[in-house]
Amino acid sequence: MKKVVVLGAGYGGLKTVVELQKKLRGEVAITLVDQNSYHYEATDLHEVASGNLPASKILFPIADVLDPKMTTFIQDHVDKVDIEKKTVELAKHEPLSYDYCVFALGFVSETFGIKGAEENSLPMANVDQAEAIRDHITAQMKDYRQTKDENNLKIIICGAGFSGIELAGAVADGRKRYAELAGVRPDQIKIEIVDASKRLLPMFDDKLADYGVNLLKKLDVNITTEALIQEIQPGVVLYKGAGDEDGAPLHKISGNTIIWTTGVSGSPIVAESGLQARRGRVMDSAHLTAPDHDEVYMVGDDAAVMPPDGKRPYPTTAQIALSMANYVAKDIAARVKGTSRPGAYTYKSLGTVASVGNTRAFGVAMGHSTKGYPASVVKKMIMNKSLLETGGVKELLAKGRFDLYH
Ligand SMILES: Cc1cc2nc3c(=O)[nH]c(=O)nc-3n(C[C@H](O)[C@H](O)[C@H](O)COP(=O)(O)OP(=O)(O)OC[C@H]3O[C@@H](n4cnc5c(N)ncnc54)[C@H](O)[C@@H]3O)c2cc1C
Repeated sequence: MKKVVVLGAGYGGLKTVVELQKKLRGEVAITLVDQNSYHYEATDLHEVASGNLPASKILFPIADVLDPKMTTFIQDHVDKVDIEKKTVELAKHEPLSYDYCVFALGFVSETFGIKGAEENSLPMANVDQAEAIRDHITAQMKDYRQTKDENNLKIIICGAGFSGIELAGAVADGRKRYAELAGVRPDQIKIEIVDASKRLLPMFDDKLADYGVNLLKKLDVNITTEALIQEIQPGVVLYKGAGDEDGAPLHKISGNTIIWTTGVSGSPIVAESGLQARRGRVMDSAHLTAPDHDEVYMVGDDAAVMPPDGKRPYPTTAQIALSMANYVAKDIAARVKGTSRPGAYTYKSLGTVASVGNTRAFGVAMGHSTKGYPASVVKKMIMNKSLLETGGVKELLAKGRFDLYH
C-alpha cells in the first residue's frame, strides 16, 4: 500500500488528509505529523494575542477529524526531509519513509535581519506566541498600577500588513479591558502602528485602503507611515523617516509592548531539507510539486504559485492553502488509482476581507467590495467556511463565529 506522509496539520495539511480520507478509503496509509496535538485557525491569532478570544476558541484536537483506520497521527517536530532517501526525520521518533510527501509546515515570523527585532519584539506566528503577547500586555497593564510609567500603556505594532492591521483592530477592541487592569481611562492606552510604506494595504484599491486606515484612526490608533525601522531596542523602535539624510538621528517611538508583524516566510525546514526556496517558499510545478521531485508536494505558505500573468506569486493565505490541498488530494488519488492526473493547478481568489475588531471589517468578497458591520459578518462567514473545510460540522458548531448580532 502506498504511503503518504503529510507534514503540518494547518489549513493545507489537515485539508489534504481530510480529502485523502474521502477519496482513497482503504487504499493508502497516511501519516500526519504536527508538533501540536491541535489544529489552530492561524487567521484568528490576533484575537488570542489581544486577549479577545481564548486560544481554546480557535483550535480543535487533530484527532477529531482523523480516520484511525487510514491515518496515523504523530505529534513531533519535523527536523528535516531527506528528499533523496524519501524519508522524514523527526525529533523524537524513528524516520518515516514515504511514496508521497506533502509539505505544509506553514509560516514563521520574518525579521528581515533588523537589529534587535528577534530579541526585543514579540512575533505572532503561532498559538504560543499569540498567548505570549496577551500575557505580556496583561503584565504591562498590571505593572502600571505600581510604576505609573506611561510606556506600560503603549502597544506598538511594527508592520501594517494584513495581520498588523487586524491585530491593531483587535487590540483597540481590548482597550477597555486593558484600562481596567491598569486602573486608567481607555483613552490612556496608546496604540501605534509603524510601517515603511507610504500607501498601506496594497491588496485593496485606494478607496478601500483609505477606508481601512480611517477606521483605525477613528479607533484612535496612531499610524506612522514611511518609517524604515532600523533597530528595536528594549522598549524602543528606531526608524528612519522618508526624507531623512543618511546618518541623520533616528526617530524613536517608545512603548513596553512591541509586536512584530512586518511579514512572514515559509518554514525553515524547507531550506533545511535542501529544497530551492525564496523566503522558505518553493516555486511549485503545475502539479504543486517541488521542481525535480514529483513525489514532494508543497502547499500553503511553503509554496509559491505564479498566476497566469507571471508577475508575482499569489499572496500566501489560508484560502489558497485550502485550495491547494484540494488539488493535491485529487492529484495523489489519481496517481494511486492509476487514472489520469488533473490538469495544471489554477486558483481563483474569492476575495479578501480584513477585520478591524469584532464588528468592523472591509474588503472584497466574490467581486464586491464590502465595508463596516456587514463586512464583519462576511468575514465571520469566511472563517466559518474554512473551519468547516478542515474540521467538519462538529468543529464548526463548537468553534464557529456566530456572534453576528450586536
Ligand atoms: C493574524 C493573521 C491573520 C490572517 N488572516 C488571514 C485571512 O483573513 N485570510 C486568509 O486567507 N489568510 C489569512 N492569514 C494567513 C493564513 O493564516 C496563512 O496563509 C495560513 O495559515 C497558511 O496555511 P498553511 O497550511 O500553509 O500553514 P499553517 O496553517 O500555519 O499550519 C502549519 C502547521 O505546521 C505545524 N508545524 C510547523 N512547523 C512544524 C515542525 N517543524 N514540525 C511539526 N509541525 C510543524 C504547525 O504547528 C501548524 O499546525 C492570516 C495570518 C495571520 C497571522
